[in-house]
Amino acid sequence: MKVVAPARAVTEVDGLSGRRYRATDGIYEMSPRDGRALVQAGGFLPSLAGATSRAFGYRCPADGFGSFFVTCSRCGGTCEKE
Ligand SMILES: [Zn+2]
Repeated sequence: MKVVAPARAVTEVDGLSGRRYRATDGIYEMSPRDGRALVQAGGFLPSLAGATSRAFGYRCPADGFGSFFVTCSRCGGTCEKE
């Protein structure tokens, strides 16, 4: 299952199973058990994250890409806080 990271600074999380997950663009691909645990800890399901671009917090001034990170994952530019 996919789980959206609870905070933009979070790029790694340990699941209940002891497995370590790395986020890709703020999304974790986790086992159902670990995913549910992360949701309870503050993560959320992509289907519930309707306004993802607003939740991400950064936007690239060069191409308008909404980003979870300061560095634009599309062009590598520096994003500004929304
Ligand atoms: Zn960009």
